[in-house]
Amino acid sequence: MDEGPGWKAFDFPLPLHLTPCTSMEIITSVSMMQQCCLKLHRTGKKIAFVPTMGWLHEGHLSLLREGRRRGDVLVLSIFVNPTQFGANEDLASYPRDLSRDAALAESVGTDLIFAPEAAEMYPRGYASYVDVEGLTESLCGAARPGHFRGVTTVVSKLFAIVQPQVAFFGQKDFQQLAVIRRMTLDLNLPVEIVGLPIVREADGLAMSSRNVYLTPDLRRQALVLSRAIATARQLVGQGETAAASILADLRQLIASEPAARIDYIEICHQFTLQPQQQVDADSVLLMAVFLGETRLIDNGLLREVAN
Ligand code: AMP
Repeated sequence: MDEGPGWKAFDFPLPLHLTPCTSMEIITSVSMMQQCCLKLHRTGKKIAFVPTMGWLHEGHLSLLREGRRRGDVLVLSIFVNPTQFGANEDLASYPRDLSRDAALAESVGTDLIFAPEAAEMYPRGYASYVDVEGLTESLCGAARPGHFRGVTTVVSKLFAIVQPQVAFFGQKDFQQLAVIRRMTLDLNLPVEIVGLPIVREADGLAMSSRNVYLTPDLRRQALVLSRAIATARQLVGQGETAAASILADLRQLIASEPAARIDYIEICHQFTLQPQQQVDADSVLLMAVFLGETRLIDNGLLREVAN
């Protein structure tokens, strides 16, 4: 466990002085985290929660800042969740640096980091999964079978451990946010789900932990994702409403970058995620594009310019 100057990494026994925490603490044990959060509940504290896989950037920090504003205690989880990665995906190479993340988290007022090992979350004999039907079958769900089952399982486990009143998710993972909202509603989980806007680099690239994989040349080519959103909005602004025609133009645009390979690109209804033939006030452009080996996702509502 990494330890930095301003925080402590705990193992058993339980630090019972958390009422609330005076300095940021890192907890790795499920039972310690759960007891800690139960104690905070009993003292009437509102727990704001931001689940992440770490390698924090401004996108994550925007969620944490909003959590700081809305809760008495701000909890961040850092867990590279193996059940949401496919066999040929980047689980082993996913960037990890707890010291770096802890320093960033502390700089925005995080009280507690929950950073369990995989064996702590999925011990021997683990056999239970949460599945949301319908919303998970298209887009990233079609491209990454089992991905959302892993996401909904870990998020429901994290909710049970952290017991937050409010949890923050980015619209960067648009489909994930819709799936989490559905799960929370369907399972009557007592958590308010807040979705926050995509944070972008100055040149338009959506911030992502996976951007670290990009060479300078791929990083430049990756700007085609945000350019595709801008182009779609421009076409809609000029009166184009046929999704097929807009998507044909965007496919051509993306193909102009030699390393870009479209995984999917669709125009869907923002709530149902069903594909649309005609753009309307609820249309969202969703895409996943490989730049070399790196798969990036991006999205944007087209409604700002739709009539
Ligand atoms: P991750 O660590 O990639 O699992 O992301 C954790 C949370 O941060 C998710 O709710 C993401 O949607 C959110 N997030 C990731 N990138 C961004 C971004 N560029 N802007 C806003 N939120 C983001």
